[in-house]
Amino acid sequence: MKNVRVVVVGAGVIGVSTAVCIAEALPFCSVTLLADKFSPDTTSDGAAGILFAAKFPDIPLERQKRWFKDTFDHLLAIAQSQHSPEAGVMLSSGWQIFKEVPAERKPFWAESVIGFRFMTEEELKRFPDHKFGHAFTTLKCECSSYLPWLENRFRKAGGHVEQRTINSLQELSNSYDIIVNCSGLGSRTLVGDSQVYPVRGQVLKMEAPWLQHFIRDGDGKTYIYPGMHSVTVGGTRQEEDWRLHVDEGDTDSILKRCSRLEPSLSHGKVLSKWVGLRPSRRNPRVEKELVQLPGRRVPVVHNYGHGGWGVTLAWGTALDALELVRQCLQEMPLQAKL
Ligand code: FAD
Repeated sequence: MKNVRVVVVGAGVIGVSTAVCIAEALPFCSVTLLADKFSPDTTSDGAAGILFAAKFPDIPLERQKRWFKDTFDHLLAIAQSQHSPEAGVMLSSGWQIFKEVPAERKPFWAESVIGFRFMTEEELKRFPDHKFGHAFTTLKCECSSYLPWLENRFRKAGGHVEQRTINSLQELSNSYDIIVNCSGLGSRTLVGDSQVYPVRGQVLKMEAPWLQHFIRDGDGKTYIYPGMHSVTVGGTRQEEDWRLHVDEGDTDSILKRCSRLEPSLSHGKVLSKWVGLRPSRRNPRVEKELVQLPGRRVPVVHNYGHGGWGVTLAWGTALDALELVRQCLQEMPLQAKL
């Protein structure tokens, strides 16, 4: 008998990961994954999906390291299993290169990826505009495969799926005991959080099967990520830019910048172009609160605002959200007495 009703709003990589963690760990809960867009139509579907991160300013570093490592270990196990092609998760080796030596030479996640080291002078000769670099093996998680695979895992754990738009959390208060908000940029309107804002990103998918290694400029704007079926090249980081259509000026700029890093790209073929809006925030919001809705106070767990690192941190923050749901469950009888 399932006696606690949980709804997870949002079916991007954050919502689906969170829904799976809750459904698998808390079998006495009835879990519904509710969203207006599912794969292949979410922002997560178009992400390059490389595991990488920059530091958030106000979150303890130990917590950020845990988010990264938990996600890395979860996806590494998939990449090294027979599920890898269906789940779209693979190991990816390559270089991150810098025009100037960065203030922090070693990123906080250096111990979590495989074989991290500084590039040699010999290796750097290939990139004449750059003077410093990292060489390592990370993971690439292609959400257009990973999300359907994970949704399937959610259904197997007994989860329910519902497609609809909600305009306010009030619409859910009579049907659910706990609300988990993974609505990304949608949190701006859904919970009135004006701190979430879009950072527009445009990428191209290219056919260039001879490319096997990723190359990323440390400024985060230019990158080449070989994947399972094509190479993702990018990109742009345009803050507060809501445009969802392809900008051909950006296309030209991406091709020019990437070909400078990897001249053989000029022989590649553009297969598709895509734009997505990163749900950015000074820090992601992974916390719980009690929200007063008509008639009762409802526990709400938030998990959104991962910016350009949602794939990288999804499983780690989902585990934190699960822990917050557990806390809500413990507090519920007390709340009912109030
Ligand atoms: P989304 O995928 O946007 O999902 C939000 C969900 O909430 C959707 O299902 C939506 O329908 C639902 N929703 C919202 N409002 C409502 C509502 N009112 N009612 C019902 N449902 C609602 N990250 C990495 O880690 N590595 C990368 O290499 C990488 N590359 C990227 C490249 C580009 C070009 C872009 C744009 C992003 C990239 N990212 C990358 C970032 C990554 O895509 C995001 O961090 C991630 O997709 C955020 O996931 P999310 O689930 O929070 O949001």
